[in-house]
Amino acid sequence: MPNTLFDALFAPLRHRDSPFLILPDGATISGADFLAMVARQAHALRAAGLEPGDRIAVQIAKSPQALAVYGAAVALGAIFLPLNTAYTAEEVGYFLGNATPKIFLCDSAKLAALAPVAAVHGAQVMTLDADGTGSLTTAAAGLPATITPVDRGPDDLAAFLYTSGTTGRSKGAMLTHGNLLSNAEVLADLWRFTAEDVLLHALPIFHTHGLFVASNISLLTGGAMIFLPGFDAATVLRMMPRATAMMGVPTFYTRLLDSAAFTRDLTAHMRLFVSGSAPLLAETHLAFEARCGHRILERYGMTETNMNTSNPYDGDRRAGTVGFPLPGVELRIMADGQEVAPGAVGVIEVRGPNVFKGYWQMPEKTREELRADGWFITGDLGCVDADGYVQIVGRQKDLVISGGFNVYPKEVELLLDAVPGVLETAVIGVPHPDFGEAVFAVLVPKPGATLEAEACLAQLHDRLARYKQPKAAAILPDLPRNTMGKVRKNLLREQFKGWFA
Ligand code: ATP
Ligand code: MG
Repeated sequence: MPNTLFDALFAPLRHRDSPFLILPDGATISGADFLAMVARQAHALRAAGLEPGDRIAVQIAKSPQALAVYGAAVALGAIFLPLNTAYTAEEVGYFLGNATPKIFLCDSAKLAALAPVAAVHGAQVMTLDADGTGSLTTAAAGLPATITPVDRGPDDLAAFLYTSGTTGRSKGAMLTHGNLLSNAEVLADLWRFTAEDVLLHALPIFHTHGLFVASNISLLTGGAMIFLPGFDAATVLRMMPRATAMMGVPTFYTRLLDSAAFTRDLTAHMRLFVSGSAPLLAETHLAFEARCGHRILERYGMTETNMNTSNPYDGDRRAGTVGFPLPGVELRIMADGQEVAPGAVGVIEVRGPNVFKGYWQMPEKTREELRADGWFITGDLGCVDADGYVQIVGRQKDLVISGGFNVYPKEVELLLDAVPGVLETAVIGVPHPDFGEAVFAVLVPKPGATLEAEACLAQLHDRLARYKQPKAAAILPDLPRNTMGKVRKNLLREQFKGWFA
């Protein structure tokens, strides 16, 4: 029976004896063996009661077996719901309560803490550990190595992927088979992925970047993945000679640059480095090119839409931009209910086959952000330059309105980043008795550097309109980030809200 995602991504592995996954110790798993793992797991999950349309939530370490659960869920027509491994039992409780999965899969080390949470929400618990063992694997052993997938079309749900919770409570984005496949097809084509590619995969697989962008593209095109449990610079450097392409968050690239072993020679054979999930500093882009000769290809996406824009494969990959709307994706910049003049800043909206069906059990949020005619209000502020490149200037929620004037934090951050001794910065708005909000800078010094807040701010005096200049700054050893490397400005706003009180 047809199953949109299974047929395109998993079924083709059937005839493949060559490696699909290459593990850090050099061991490999062939496509056919991986598919057999998917099938056995699917039989085990079905026997445990997982039916089409049911949710299966997982909070498990990255492993070949963990990736196979995604395939098993697709085969069964169930809805795959991966959770960040860093979430505490209390946080997991929120997701289980919101999504009411039939089965919850967790690491056996966390069973004591999580089993009671699962019980409260009526989910049956199974385990899968980082080494691939657990009650799921035990149940799957000896079951048939093939499976006939459940009938699923493009409009059927495949996953609930929860947003990263950078700006507030995570929301479950309902993604269909068609959402995921259409995006994988467009990206594979745009970034020229083929069966010859070996993707260095060090991203987590509970997030859209590692799970859908990276894994779906490799599955679709028949390539292999060097499948690392996480980002460890030494392992990435060791495995890089076997790779042709890599995808990462910006911190991967800054950490590679921190290593003297990351050289032009080491990367001479690579054809592509992709960055996303958080803004790549133009400085990192330039330093990367200077070091190894590759221009990182930056793209922009989000949980709700998969990818929306990308810099070109051929042509100018411009630092500080996220490139052009993907084929099939419409993009517009809106302010006050209409499209802005060319080049002006506004809220980015997108429409296309990639856009999700709404937030699970949050009809009001869905109505607020997803227009009836299909346009999704991303909440990101950006503009489109004269050449059509999209630039992101920050999130609408991070916009500072000081004395009635809009201040885009990114503009101020870029100037502060360039101050000698400054590693990185975050500009936020904090309550101010006269201005409503005051622009406030958080500065992180480079290793070994000492910063003086006032002196740093003084460097902006001739370069920025007065209202954009931070009224004060604090120095922190680092910025609070979530596991995707995103700066959690809401925590900074909370920390410094009393500064001018
Ligand atoms: P939440 O919606 O729960 O607050 P989140 O928006 O961080 O969390 P994700 O869906 O993981 O959750 O992240 C999408 C966001 O990441 C985008 O809306 C955008 O703000 C940011 N982002 C992604 N790629 C880029 C990029 N290349 N440059 C700048 N920002 C990016
Ligand atoms: Mg978001």
